[in-house]
Amino acid sequence: MVDSLEGYSYGALEQMLSGAGVNPVHAKPLFSAVQRRLVSKNLSVAEGILPPVARWLSTDEAPVLCPTEQTDCSPSGDGFTEKYMLRLADGAEVEAVRMGFPGRFTACLSTQVGCAMGCVFCATGQMGFSRHLTTGEIVAQAHHVERGLRESHGERLRNIVMMGMGEPLHNFEPVMEALGIITDNRGLNIGPARVAISTVGHIPGILKLAHHPKRYSLAVSLHGASDEERGKLIPVNKKWPLADLIGACREYTAIKRARVFFAWTLIGGVNDSKDHAFRLAELLKGIDAHVNLIPLNATEGYEGEAPDETNVREFQGIIQASGLPCTVRQRRGIDVAAGCGQLKARRLSKQ
Ligand code: SAH
Ligand code: SF4
Repeated sequence: MVDSLEGYSYGALEQMLSGAGVNPVHAKPLFSAVQRRLVSKNLSVAEGILPPVARWLSTDEAPVLCPTEQTDCSPSGDGFTEKYMLRLADGAEVEAVRMGFPGRFTACLSTQVGCAMGCVFCATGQMGFSRHLTTGEIVAQAHHVERGLRESHGERLRNIVMMGMGEPLHNFEPVMEALGIITDNRGLNIGPARVAISTVGHIPGILKLAHHPKRYSLAVSLHGASDEERGKLIPVNKKWPLADLIGACREYTAIKRARVFFAWTLIGGVNDSKDHAFRLAELLKGIDAHVNLIPLNATEGYEGEAPDETNVREFQGIIQASGLPCTVRQRRGIDVAAGCGQLKARRLSKQ
């Protein structure tokens, strides 16, 4: 399948141009127009594209820009968080979110349409899996968020988190190619350390990431400290059980010499007790870890509720007392349903 133009790395553009009989040196201005200046239409001579490239771009063989039509946009009260629903060429819709505040804006990107992992509390999991996103469709989301940011705040994105719809490591190659393009210093130039990949605990993917040349941040979603408890929330725990997952994380920290971020979605009365916190601290003993607590964003397809504020603080205190850094994810953007997959879920339930 021919991907959209955003999905071509610098090297892939050079190759494609030479295959089409165009001098590959023209890859430079083309890559810059697409990936740095974010030209969204009319890639023409007026945009600094040289005539032979413009001619080639107008042929049927040349890839086109990804059509990311914005079908919904929910700004939050603070003016900083904004959630976009983007319609792709085949009509599939994915979410991309801008979060943060001046000087520290982050884009949260989707990697799949739906998700095959079926976590019970997650709006995306409740939708099931439709398809993987292409490299171009992932890069195009970052472009969409960055364009909005340049217009509204005159700023650039600083961080990228792969925490939107889908399981990034289940779509490994396109995600890695997309991140290679996003971190290219001839393009958006976002440093690899400012990119976080969040996984449900996809062990083969974690091990591949450990051997990948770039050093992205890894976040692993735990939510349970025993197979029995985790399995009730995350069905794929059967395939990738906790002991193996922790083993893979240890291997990752040893190879990369980098810490792993562990996400724990706190669900009232389910996994938010002091006992859970003690068991989590025990499980992570000796690992270079950082714990990120996420109070549940209630979804219509799951009965669980958000935890009490006191439980969140106590849980955090226990993890910190065990010697591990522990932060609570800010609830910024909750009013725009910024939990993954929630904008789409809300629209579907209104239909
Ligand atoms: N598939 C990846 C990345 C996307 S989800 C993963 O599961 O890690 C990003 C994070 O949001 C995960 O930690 C996930 O468990 C959490 N999450 C999903 N739905 C949520 C909800 N309704 N409330 C709070 N956190 C949620
Ligand atoms: Fe998929 Fe992550 Fe949602 Fe689980 S939490 S269903 S892995 S997107």
